[in-house]
Amino acid sequence: MAIDIRPELQDSLLRVTSRPCHHFAMGVFWTPLRHPPPVRLSVTVPFPTMAIASLGDLSALPTEIVLAICSAMDVTSLFRFRQVNRRARAIVSDMSQYREIAIFAIETLHALLFTRMGSHFNFTQFYDAFRAMECQVCGLFGHLLFLPNLQRCCWKCLRSARTHQQLHVVALADLAKFYPLSEDDLGRILPVVHAAPGIYSEHREIVNEPKKLVSLSDAMRTLGKLGFDPQSFLQRDTNYYTTGCMATTAFPYHDRATGTIEHGTLCRGCDVALNNGSIGAEARLNRAYTTKQFLEHFQSCPEAQNIWRDSREGTIPFENLNVAQTLRSIPWGW
Ligand SMILES: [Zn+2]
Ligand SMILES: [Zn+2]
Repeated sequence: MAIDIRPELQDSLLRVTSRPCHHFAMGVFWTPLRHPPPVRLSVTVPFPTMAIASLGDLSALPTEIVLAICSAMDVTSLFRFRQVNRRARAIVSDMSQYREIAIFAIETLHALLFTRMGSHFNFTQFYDAFRAMECQVCGLFGHLLFLPNLQRCCWKCLRSARTHQQLHVVALADLAKFYPLSEDDLGRILPVVHAAPGIYSEHREIVNEPKKLVSLSDAMRTLGKLGFDPQSFLQRDTNYYTTGCMATTAFPYHDRATGTIEHGTLCRGCDVALNNGSIGAEARLNRAYTTKQFLEHFQSCPEAQNIWRDSREGTIPFENLNVAQTLRSIPWGW
């Protein structure tokens, strides 16, 4: 049954019936040291002082052409070009696409540069992935970025990568053991994610060594073209999931219509449904929504509506509700 929610109650409704899914971002590649304001500012804005130096031969071109060249540069080159002098920094900082990324997705930009994937994709490709909202596998909201091929994806699809293989990665070292090619040979023909040690997945698996990872489908396609048999490699049983997390990072979505930045929202009502053993509840677990999508979902989620009623339209905090006590002992959210 639909419930009429007055606009001024939307924040309360979100606070009581939903929860953020930031913890997903901590199961994939992330930067422990969040970028402090001075760093964010230095990546986003030009220097306040006048640019004196020129861009050399590029100065002869109209600004629109220079901007078109910038958009076509790979992400790493654009970032380096911005560091050439104050003029270059001003030009790149004035690109609306660059600014949007630097303001709303600086951690994703950092991940792309850190893992060396920035040199494999031009800035327009990165921006196009940022502007898309859907997971490229299931079509629902995607709050993560699969680095090997710059695909927006969601946690549920990353977790089930074995079944669809689109978000499946393999270590370069494993490929080199299987085929008569060295890691260097493979690194020349495949885009390699230089993944960092860290703690990955909901199992909090500790990875002590850096890893070089490639997309399994890319590797099989390329090796197949070179005359190698991909099928025999695919039959091996590998720890695809943790390595998949290492090659993925959080990817916020900027909803221009509402001006909000979306990291993903989970439904507490669906947590309750799973706890009650409701039919179909398994499929609803860990489904991430944008704010707008969640408000729509709320209208068809009886359990979320019950929480809202129990909270007396948000006047009782979720933590004080009986249902919160029931859910407290259960490790939801993964
Ligand atoms: Zn998905
Ligand atoms: Zn729900």
